[in-house]
Amino acid sequence: MIRWMMARGFSRCTLAAAWIALVAVPLAPVVAEDATAVEGRLSATAKYLSSDELEGRGVGTKGLDLAADYIAEQFRTLGLKTELVDGGPFQTFEMTTGSELGSPNTLTFVGPGGEDGEPRKIELALDEQFTPLAIGGSGTFDLPLVFVGYGITGKDENYDDYEGIDVKDKAVVILRHEPQQANPHSVFNGTDHSEHAPFRRKVSNAFEHGAAAVIFCNDQFEVDKQLASLRKRWQVAVDEIAEASERFKKIEKPSADEWRAYENKIAHLCEDVGKYAEQLDEARDPLLPFRGAGPSASEGRSFPVLSCQRGVLDQIVKQAMGMSLAELEVEMDKGPTPRSAPLEGWRAVGETHVERHEVGVKNVVGVWEGEGPLADETIVIGAHYDHLGYGGSGSAAPGVHEIHNGADDNGSGTTVLIEVARDIVARGKLPRRIVFIAFTGEERGLVGSARYVREPLFPIDKTVAMLNLDMVGRLTDEKLIVHGTGTATEFDALVDRFGKDYGFDITKKPGGFGPSDHSSFYSAKVPVLFFFTGSHKDYHRPSDDFDKLNIPGMRRIAEMVAEIGVTLAKADTRPAYKEVQDMGEIARSGGDRPYFGSIPDFAGDEPGYALSGVAKGGPAARGGLQGGDTIVKFGDSKIGNLEDFDSALRKYKAGDKVPVTVKRDGDEVTLEVTLDPPR
Ligand SMILES: [Zn+2]
Ligand SMILES: [Zn+2]
Repeated sequence: MIRWMMARGFSRCTLAAAWIALVAVPLAPVVAEDATAVEGRLSATAKYLSSDELEGRGVGTKGLDLAADYIAEQFRTLGLKTELVDGGPFQTFEMTTGSELGSPNTLTFVGPGGEDGEPRKIELALDEQFTPLAIGGSGTFDLPLVFVGYGITGKDENYDDYEGIDVKDKAVVILRHEPQQANPHSVFNGTDHSEHAPFRRKVSNAFEHGAAAVIFCNDQFEVDKQLASLRKRWQVAVDEIAEASERFKKIEKPSADEWRAYENKIAHLCEDVGKYAEQLDEARDPLLPFRGAGPSASEGRSFPVLSCQRGVLDQIVKQAMGMSLAELEVEMDKGPTPRSAPLEGWRAVGETHVERHEVGVKNVVGVWEGEGPLADETIVIGAHYDHLGYGGSGSAAPGVHEIHNGADDNGSGTTVLIEVARDIVARGKLPRRIVFIAFTGEERGLVGSARYVREPLFPIDKTVAMLNLDMVGRLTDEKLIVHGTGTATEFDALVDRFGKDYGFDITKKPGGFGPSDHSSFYSAKVPVLFFFTGSHKDYHRPSDDFDKLNIPGMRRIAEMVAEIGVTLAKADTRPAYKEVQDMGEIARSGGDRPYFGSIPDFAGDEPGYALSGVAKGGPAARGGLQGGDTIVKFGDSKIGNLEDFDSALRKYKAGDKVPVTVKRDGDEVTLEVTLDPPR
């Protein structure tokens, strides 16, 4: 319809205005209700959802299930249809929450024969000399060993540990961190760590080069640093003993109490000295713990990743390369210069068992059916109801094991969602269907919404809009942020009008991608609006509590969102989807990485980087890539997931022509893409 009217000379603005005028509805709810009553209800719901009983609604907690039951009961009581998924309100599925070390796990280094002709064998003890890491997978292996220094390929740093080295189907030995760590002028971000230092980055880089297993080894700099800090603590304790002794000797005739206090003090300090001495001993050649490099593997990552004692690897490196690891590190610091080499004659033989933890999770779905000729079209209104539980890697206070109540994130959105449903049901039947969804697993990467988009209850191509509520509980100075105003032709004017009518000071963001569930829908070309009252210092912290919510603000947002929902449900035509320019790779944008212009498909679970689309006129589009493609190779790099792609892209610069291999309808196609400057 847009194209038809545009051809007759309508501008977008007048068109949008006309569209809104056509569908304008009276502002007052059908059943006017006292604001205090509504706020009392909102308050009670938000208070329950953010109570300690619900354990921060973390994936895997009983609290999350209690929240799901509560929301389902609310939906049912309101009169929504709640028996659409196998007769119930829950769209259930399994989610990986972490990893456990299974068994058996073995590692043996087999080396070239000695004088007796027998091959050398170094059998390592689990937990003492080696351990599999949770960021890797399970596997049985017998692979040639290659030393690849720090395992870094740095385009900007002009440094490549893999240059001229064949690691295909081999096990690579990688030092932690990076060269020149003591050098404030190091190209690797001075004395701070650069983007090349993280474990995952190194694992991705190894995978891209075709390696079949990774063995991490501590670098000398790290070992020295840990030793120095422990020695300092040990020395302080020793000095305190000396001081206490000096002080005591100055007392002429110590009383029994003074003796007792002195004895206790010295005993306590000696205990510390003993403890530090023990830690010092371990720190001379430490082993990473199983989760020391991260709690679980990246999507699709299944090859073994291990941590191994430096002392063991040092013997092998010395034998094969004629130099110790420490000597090689000194050499690498010069320049810096890679010193990678195959460890001739040596193989890594063994197996790892890493068990993924799966838990059942659920989206909660309630449906308000439409009536009439448009009843097969759907509007989704959603809010995630999960949060961070007791903290962990998603927390802004990651070391703290404490309930993260998530009153604003996203107790507020869930509460408002229920109120919007109540408001809409009170108006009776509407032309289009409205599906209310409380999403799970948002905090772990939009898992619930991605699942719904992959397995929708109603066809996605007939889903005409998605409204998302995430963190709407901290309205301050009437400031409301609305994302997605550019995702349909009509949305910008629509948001302007409602913002004015409801007295909000709205900041409009045209893009439809962002760190919440609307992203999953925009990936599937559904126009989206995302409502958000802004971030704050309690964001993702245990202090995001109920008493900080602005309940009257939530009531007003609920009223407006219900009104927008009704407007969309009644409109003669569905909103016209618009591709927002200047988008792509939103999951990890920015930096000095060249621009590629791809849109990730968060629902994909095949190995590779799945695209839901490509940015109009961007490099990927010009090269012939399209939505539905899965990138499996980028230049010489194998691509197993988005992380690998990000790492591979950073190795190129604007203007480079890169062969890109994609899986398309079961076939492999190689296209050439010319990269644009970073944006
Ligand atoms: Zn959130
Ligand atoms: Zn969050």
